[in-house]
Amino acid sequence: MNCWHCKTELIWGGDHDTEEDTQYSMVTNLSCPKCHSLVEVYLPRDAYD
Ligand SMILES: [Zn+2]
Repeated sequence: MNCWHCKTELIWGGDHDTEEDTQYSMVTNLSCPKCHSLVEVYLPRDAYD
């Protein structure tokens, strides 16, 4: 996946379970090595229903 701003390939930072969130089950952190943007991707709990 590429950076929204500069289109550089993002670096995967890690996955975290969002147990306190009723709507999302996991968040994935990615960062851009060029412009240093931070991207968080929230996976819905019903993503694969
Ligand atoms: Zn970038």
